[in-house]
Amino acid sequence: MNVELAGPWVQTDGRVKQRFQRAGVAEAFLPEQFRYDPSSDIYVCPEGKHLTARHSHSAHPGRKMIRYQANQNDCWSCPSRHQCCSSNKRYGRSIVVTQEDPVVSSFRERQTTPEARGLMRERARMAEFVNAWLKETLGLRRFRVRGLQNARAEATWAILAYSVRQWIRLRWKPSLAV
Ligand code: SF4
Repeated sequence: MNVELAGPWVQTDGRVKQRFQRAGVAEAFLPEQFRYDPSSDIYVCPEGKHLTARHSHSAHPGRKMIRYQANQNDCWSCPSRHQCCSSNKRYGRSIVVTQEDPVVSSFRERQTTPEARGLMRERARMAEFVNAWLKETLGLRRFRVRGLQNARAEATWAILAYSVRQWIRLRWKPSLAV
């Protein structure tokens, strides 16, 4: 079966930029100004110092966050320190880089196309009322049972209840179907 997933994608770049601005980081020292050197897996800062990979974790499936950090001594003696990491008193400057699974990248790129945006608008029109009904009328904000099988059964009953209700409604008032 060839199924293509359409779903929302939240861009966080704007918020990240604001966070850096609040921390006093100048435009010339934002993460995109650090150059990656694939031959040694390091980032080179605008002053030519090296940031090496220190820590990584998977924040979401298919996305790995890697922290690259500069040497503390390099940053402390750096003439650009006040524009780059003045609020960082204990460590060298670090940047966090996201490594994406190719499947996630292609999903993200797809979501920017006009077709995908149209699909998302259609999804909201069709699905949001059902979601709201399940939450507000049936109180299905979280499952009352444990285990995948039981949760699946509860979800099936909820969907069935909605479908029967709609069926009755449309049988009595066929004009609504139009
Ligand atoms: S503070 Fe550190 S990371 Fe920033 S420019 Fe200077 S040496 Fe590079």
